[in-house]
Amino acid sequence: MSRIMIIGAGGVGRVVAFKCAQDPAVFSEILLASRTVSKCDRIADDIKIQLGYNAMSTAKVDADNVPELVQLINHFKPKLIINVALPYQDLTIMEACLQTGVHYLDTANYEPKDEAKFEYSWQWAYRERFKEANLTAILGCGFDPGVTGVFTAYAAKHYFDEMIYLDIIDANAGSHGKAFATNFNPEINIREVTQKGKYWENGDWVMTEPHEIKMDIDYPNIGPKSSYLIYHEELESLVQNFPTLERARFWMTFSEEYLTHLRVIQNIGMANIEPVMFQGREIIPLEFLKAVLPDPGELGENYTGQTSIGVRIRGKKDGNWVNYYIWNNCQHADAYKETGTQGVSYTTGVPAMVGAKMFLTGQWSKPGVYNVEEFNPDPFLEALGLAGLPWHEQVNGNLQFDYPA
Ligand code: NDP
Repeated sequence: MSRIMIIGAGGVGRVVAFKCAQDPAVFSEILLASRTVSKCDRIADDIKIQLGYNAMSTAKVDADNVPELVQLINHFKPKLIINVALPYQDLTIMEACLQTGVHYLDTANYEPKDEAKFEYSWQWAYRERFKEANLTAILGCGFDPGVTGVFTAYAAKHYFDEMIYLDIIDANAGSHGKAFATNFNPEINIREVTQKGKYWENGDWVMTEPHEIKMDIDYPNIGPKSSYLIYHEELESLVQNFPTLERARFWMTFSEEYLTHLRVIQNIGMANIEPVMFQGREIIPLEFLKAVLPDPGELGENYTGQTSIGVRIRGKKDGNWVNYYIWNNCQHADAYKETGTQGVSYTTGVPAMVGAKMFLTGQWSKPGVYNVEEFNPDPFLEALGLAGLPWHEQVNGNLQFDYPA
């Protein structure tokens, strides 16, 4: 029986709020706080009507402002904060947690607003302070990062002595009927996918041009889809936590239509994050673009198809080569029916709730700042399946990648 505070009321915040409210024995009281309180109120009202959960209150907070956060936290006194605002707010919320003695969980690593660069160094710098304060911070507990790290830890624990090749594969084979839309916050999404590619090989990072490396990957229940090598944040912690990995890569599907729009957006300067003057005031083109694109949280209604995200690993057990694949598929329509939003928000929000539950039930609790693969994967994966994201595994099947002899 614990009080928690959720910060952020977008697509992911909506799913986290719904999933926590479905488990009142663990989440006995919830404060949903965000910049626009009317969005919190709408979610809380829907939850009251659909689930009969009456223990959710709402508040307005600017999570860039530490004193404002501290005041709200001291008033509500939660045990844990689930941060599903934007990556820009990670450090201010962690700072407020330290000042108030509250534990922390998020789904995306910090990035500064004025530089499209994400890495864990800023949050890992808080390790000693969280340890000294006897507080836990769980980083990157969505799907990717999140479940992909837990899948990897599960593989390491049960199937390998030594993991050598790792490929995370992420397909969205859904259709939302819009010419162009992103599946989560457009600003963060476009910053992520327009970056240079990067993967780990033989102890070093190899850089590629954006979308330079492409291959067709066969996804379960979906079939072959064009997939592009991009850099994704969990690679940074996975290669540190599993040092036997000689190669680690991340692949994501993009349609030709999506990439064409993206190219045009970049070519005309709309993906820029440097301010420009417009009618006498400064605006940031990418922020303006976000304002005119569809809200990802509202894409759910006519969204058909499914996502498939998993990890393919080749390594050794008892001296023999082992191929291992673990994955989840999620139908957008099922996610919408249950929570009123699409599959990408759902596959992020459910693991955030499960991670919070792991912490609150004492299964994932140790002082310090940790990535998800540093905890016991077994209870998390058991709870994940029960919470709506069942997973599957295959041993010694064809992983489709060419491996060195
Ligand atoms: P949205 O943009 O839909 O929602 C973000 C929410 O945060 C909005 O309610 C917004 O308020 C609020 N917010 C923004 N700035 C502030 C602030 N300064 N103070 C208080 N609230 C603020 O994003 P999503 O729901 O799509 O994504 C949420 C998070 O999940 C992001 O960090 C994203 O990177 C992460 N994510 C992680 C994934 C994973 O698998 N690990 C996958 C997908 C997303 P307002 O309504 O006023 O704009």
